[in-house]
Amino acid sequence: MAKNRGFGAIRLIAQHLGSVLPSGTFLCRRSGDEFIAVVTVSESLDDFKDKLQRCIKPLVIQLNVTGSAHFNATFSAGAALYPDDSGEVSDLLIFADTALLSAKESGRNQIRWLDSQMMFATSRKSKIDNKLALAISQGKIHPHYQPEVDLLTGKIIGFEALARWHDEELGNVSPSEFIALAEQSGAIASLTQSLFAQLVADSRVIKARFPGVRLAFNSSPQLLGGKWLLTMLKTLAFELEGALAGFVLEITESDLALSPEEISIQLQGIMDLGVKIAIDDFGKSYSSLSRLASMPIQKLKIDMSFTAGLAQEENVKIVAGILALAHSLELEVTAEGVENQAQRDTLLRLGCMQAQGYFYSRPLPLKDVMVLPRNLRPDQVA
Ligand code: C2E
Ligand code: CA
Ligand code: CA
Repeated sequence: MAKNRGFGAIRLIAQHLGSVLPSGTFLCRRSGDEFIAVVTVSESLDDFKDKLQRCIKPLVIQLNVTGSAHFNATFSAGAALYPDDSGEVSDLLIFADTALLSAKESGRNQIRWLDSQMMFATSRKSKIDNKLALAISQGKIHPHYQPEVDLLTGKIIGFEALARWHDEELGNVSPSEFIALAEQSGAIASLTQSLFAQLVADSRVIKARFPGVRLAFNSSPQLLGGKWLLTMLKTLAFELEGALAGFVLEITESDLALSPEEISIQLQGIMDLGVKIAIDDFGKSYSSLSRLASMPIQKLKIDMSFTAGLAQEENVKIVAGILALAHSLELEVTAEGVENQAQRDTLLRLGCMQAQGYFYSRPLPLKDVMVLPRNLRPDQVA
């Protein structure tokens, strides 16, 4: 019934669009409540834009003849121009989609035209997507390392491996640009494997220079969901004769949303290889505290948004709360994103003993890591 009513509404919207769009418009339904219209511009572009804007005004749709069942429909639209934006239908569709996303993100109920900024973002994204698999197979994505320090002494106690990719054409491509694309295309498994192999190779020299440091790496939820990560680490542990002690796997709270039994088995298996488990970006999203207490984890990393907001009392209270929780669950805590002395001092006052952030060091290539002193900012020692 609801389904029929849904189709009825879609049909009414299609009829409405057919009646308000200029005659001769090609109109078809793409999927769900999305339509594609190909409209010919027969006046000045500004007049045309005004005309289209008027076509997508909100509308009350009657679902039955008595008018007792009705709903309000608002329209968001994205538009790209042929041949100005592209001569290819496939490009025009991608561009119109980008403009549609922008219309939705900026409040809906409007039409957005592709602009140079959107075009740049879209073409950069599709170039990254096209180049990613080759960059992984050619080993062009490397780990950089950001020190984690003892807040009181500045002693380096660990490093986090963060993926870095420099492409000749695109310049530096940040992990926030390519990790999500790697997850979508499935390339995340080979990327993680390549990064981890480099991390293991680098770990020998890093540990020789900084005895006792721990090396943290990030994993995507989907690798934890299947047995992929555990299998990869087991294979490596076998090859390295158990040398995975001292590694830390950082997962996010969203990973904990996987089935509790499944995640516990995976994490326990990984821990049995000597790897510690840390919850990354802690506090940023919803966590079930009872699940947290029952999970085999050893560490929390306080999300950098709380560190950045430490000048406000509410963030101080949140960080104090996280520290109390970690204390009673016997978990270690690292504060992320420490950028200045005031944040460092507040964290120490609250009892947080470990931190990471630009105040100490940005993520560095291996050769720069090797010339770091063993204590960072020792002048700050209280
Ligand atoms: P993350 O794991 O939370 O990493 C911390 C991010 O904060 C890094 O960004 C780091 O460069 C940045 N950062 C460190 N200190 C500061 C600071 O004091 N201030 C500010 N504003 N930022 C700071 P990056 O390297 O761009 O990485 C972004 C995210 O990409 C990471 O967030 C992680 O979720 C993901 N990522 C990075 N490398 C990998 C990887 O090898 N595998 C997977 N699956 N994800 C990765
Ligand atoms: Ca991390
Ligand atoms: Ca983090």
